[in-house]
Amino acid sequence: MSFKYLMPTKCYFGKGVVLEYKDELKNFGEKAMIVTGKSSSKKNGSLKDMEEALSLNNISYIIFDDIEENPSLETIGRAAELGKKEDVDFIIGIGGGSPIDASKAIGVLINNVNYSYEDILEAPYLKSIPVIAVPTTAGTGSEVTPYSIVTDHKAKTKKNLGQLIYPEIAFCDASYMVEMPYTVTVNTGIDAFSHLAEAYLNSNANIMSDIYCEKGLKIFGKCLPKFLSGELDLKLREDLMMVSTLGGMAITQTGTSLPHGMGYHLTYFKGMAHGMANGILYEEYLKVFKDKTRVNELLSFIGVNSIEELGEKFRNILKWNGIVTEEEILSYAKSIACNKGKLKNHPEEITEKELYNIYYRSLIK
Ligand code: NAP
Ligand code: FE
Repeated sequence: MSFKYLMPTKCYFGKGVVLEYKDELKNFGEKAMIVTGKSSSKKNGSLKDMEEALSLNNISYIIFDDIEENPSLETIGRAAELGKKEDVDFIIGIGGGSPIDASKAIGVLINNVNYSYEDILEAPYLKSIPVIAVPTTAGTGSEVTPYSIVTDHKAKTKKNLGQLIYPEIAFCDASYMVEMPYTVTVNTGIDAFSHLAEAYLNSNANIMSDIYCEKGLKIFGKCLPKFLSGELDLKLREDLMMVSTLGGMAITQTGTSLPHGMGYHLTYFKGMAHGMANGILYEEYLKVFKDKTRVNELLSFIGVNSIEELGEKFRNILKWNGIVTEEEILSYAKSIACNKGKLKNHPEEITEKELYNIYYRSLIK
């Protein structure tokens, strides 16, 4: 077997790491652009810590705080225009996957003035100005992945930008999550689980991704009872931050597979949070495997006895009561059956009918 291994992001873990390692910021230039969401980074202290770290280094900065969940190419284009006008040297993404993913796309647009948000998805390989990440959710692992998932309203779905932008540094401080509401906690936590699961059950799985997955899934197994009991203590936050970063490191090696591709339709058309959109499909996704060897290993890592038990636990955590029709899932299944990127990461042949059944049994039956 031959494979490539790359994990270039320097990671700091622990309370207070932004200020403790503020000197790192000196390496990236004189002017930064902070990219963040509308409000959470102002409430959880992450924005204040970064502003203080920049000021102590005499680095000037501007703030773009208008990144929405599942960031659109239009918003990314708007932020990039500001960054170009202000001639910023590097970007600091603070928040969940949405601001961090947006930061990577904005960095590419600032560095490549011949491209705009309208044609960036068709561009060849491009570099970005440096991106620093401060995750404040524990889900996407975007602080270590090269991926940037953007909403393409023209195509009516979410897509990977198609560039490989690794953050230079990830400051992972779980204390920014102490006030995170239950719903955001579990949705993002199940996204982290789905990265580990899709990397473990992936055509590209290799010994390096397996190392991240095995450890990450074991830690996730300790978090699952707390999701069910609602005991959201600091230990849980720290564990989830680790699960999330390990998940990011794992999908960096393998990519994600079908639940992610299938979930994008539920997010775009039904407004389902990203982690929920994956998690809700998991029981039926795991059942679809003809060879269950690695599925059973995965269940044993998280300490669950059967696929049905995992499905039951996820249903108790993710309470979705929206409506989706058979006609809608028919079109989602058709679309994912043409998604070569996700299909090739699934290690077995799978038919459009089986994809339809995953949606049907998860959402309608
Ligand atoms: P998110 O969309 O970044 O944020 C979700 C919500 O959580 C927002 O309302 C945000 O508020 C809030 N929030 C963030 N941090 C918080 C905190 N510490 N306390 C309380 N609330 C907080 O959520 P996400 O799940 O992290 O990111 C999802 C995006 O990442 C999707 O677009 C998904 O496709 C993508 N993704 C990327 C990768 C990758 O490898 N790059 C992998 C998987 C998923 P504000 O808006 O006010 O900040
Ligand atoms: Fe994800």
